[in-house]
Amino acid sequence: MLKEFKTLIPMVKKYKYFYIPGFLSLILVDAGELYIPRLMKKVIDYISTNDFSLEFVGKTVGLIIIIALGVAIARFGWRFFIIGASRRIESDLRYKLFSHLLTLSSSYFGKTKTGDLMARATNDMRAIRMASGMAFVAFVDATFLTIAILIIIFSEYPKLAAISIIPLPVITLLVLLTGKLIRKYFKAVQEGFSRLTENVQETLSGIRVIKSFAREDFFQDKFFKTNEEYKNSNMHLVRLWGFFFPLINFISGISIMLLFTFGGIAVIEKSITPGDFVALIGYLTMLTWPVMGMGCTVNILQRGAASLSRINEILQQEAEIKSPETSSKFIPGGNITIKNLNFSYLGSETRNNNAGILEEINLVIPKGSTLGILGRTGSGKSTFIRLLPRLLDPPAGTVFIGNTDIRDFELSELRSSIGFVPQDTFLFSSTIKENIKFGKPDAEDSEVMKMADLSTISRDLDDFPDGWETEVGERGISLSGGQKQRIAISRAMIMDPSILILDDAFSSVDTATEERILSGFLKVRKGKTNILVSHRVSTLFHADTIIVIDKGRIIQKGTHKELYEEEGFYREIAILQEAEA
Ligand code: ATP
Ligand code: MG
Repeated sequence: MLKEFKTLIPMVKKYKYFYIPGFLSLILVDAGELYIPRLMKKVIDYISTNDFSLEFVGKTVGLIIIIALGVAIARFGWRFFIIGASRRIESDLRYKLFSHLLTLSSSYFGKTKTGDLMARATNDMRAIRMASGMAFVAFVDATFLTIAILIIIFSEYPKLAAISIIPLPVITLLVLLTGKLIRKYFKAVQEGFSRLTENVQETLSGIRVIKSFAREDFFQDKFFKTNEEYKNSNMHLVRLWGFFFPLINFISGISIMLLFTFGGIAVIEKSITPGDFVALIGYLTMLTWPVMGMGCTVNILQRGAASLSRINEILQQEAEIKSPETSSKFIPGGNITIKNLNFSYLGSETRNNNAGILEEINLVIPKGSTLGILGRTGSGKSTFIRLLPRLLDPPAGTVFIGNTDIRDFELSELRSSIGFVPQDTFLFSSTIKENIKFGKPDAEDSEVMKMADLSTISRDLDDFPDGWETEVGERGISLSGGQKQRIAISRAMIMDPSILILDDAFSSVDTATEERILSGFLKVRKGKTNILVSHRVSTLFHADTIIVIDKGRIIQKGTHKELYEEEGFYREIAILQEAEA
């Protein structure tokens, strides 16, 4: 358990100036509370000796007010300092988690459910906060109060104290025993919450498909079940607590009952005063909480440890793709050379009789040229181009820019020199302008406008309510597929990268518009390298060299003219598409 808390040590240290005054405030509260039974004793004993005076009442009331005020201030103090520290630790840890997630490679997000990550960032963080705040409070309180009360009652009424505290250790034991059960139920609750988040997240992001297939019922049922499971696991906890607290009260009741019996006799025999009797009741009642607190501390800490281990699991994940220890001092530029490249996604080798996704790729893309890539769906085109910015990692010694293995470049350096328009367009829920500027945050408005012209999205701006300040995505209007694609093209173009890759980026744009975009595009991109993946010969026509990929291999290579004249896949497709047009 202790090893899990290692993550928190630097944070606890950072906030030591919260924990120290917090600790002192706690002790002050406890001391104030310890004084109350004493005061009661004084008052009662005074009343029973008849020389009662207003002056005494005044003094006592004054004292009570002062103590109450002191305790109130100290209570504020420990809440402010300790709960404050735990909130700060939670916030720091959450930030650390988020920053770490950003460093991880996309393959990690491919195999991790978003809902689960969300649950960890919320529920587990709460458990950790409890461990770094309430556990500390419960521990200090429990230790200090238990020791202080035991010293007081044993030094003043040893016999009575010895008899009445007999049932109390049972409480600590009970808390510890139920702790195991609580943890089990708690874990089920956490997991249920993860599933629920996951379920909602997936349903909402797929809402269009669900509606068009009229499958609302299915998702409603699925949600009903997950929700029901979550409720049930919560109900386990509710029942347990419902049983637990009355039981604790019952046990501490036995303790008070013992005191009533033996203390009562002692008062009758005049071996203690009525004031002593009342004070003892006060102390014993107070003792219930710390003996429970001992068990609680252990439980909260264990729960926190469980959550921390779920967080540590993520924090210990290393990015699969990262910058080399010593990176090349060259800036990515020059010819792209691919030598003997074989690639397969991990674990998928067995899928099609051991064939990799890409096999024996050898290619040189001269600087300043435009490469076109054609191939059946699933042939490996997207895989191939994702290797260049290392969104997927090529084996060492296979992909070079200039004369440098791309694995030797600083990752951010490599990526910022490659513009990328992915096959599935993603826009942020922000304005059109901001989405374009994403490629170059410090771009001038005129630059953004120029890029909007190049991708022809500027022609559509008049139709939007706020022009390029129109919000898109969740918060604003929905764009057509072609509009999204053209914004994504502007976003990559504004980077003015030395290499620009368009993965089927015109698939939702009509051929006439595509023609218009491409002619402007190629003018601007003069002297820079472009890679166009497309299913349309009309797009590829503009490329200096075209390769045809089939089952991960380059089966044809040449200019449009050359490929059009030779028998093969390219010619077949070209003729087919000409006929359609
Ligand atoms: P399309 O024209 O449909 O876009 P593509 O040529 O771009 O097809 P790729 O996306 O490169 O095809 O996919 C090539 C093969 O790799 C396919 O068989 C696909 O199932 C597989 N594949 C793609 N992504 C992954 C992945 N993350 N993990 C495992 N296999 C994958
Ligand atoms: Mg693809």
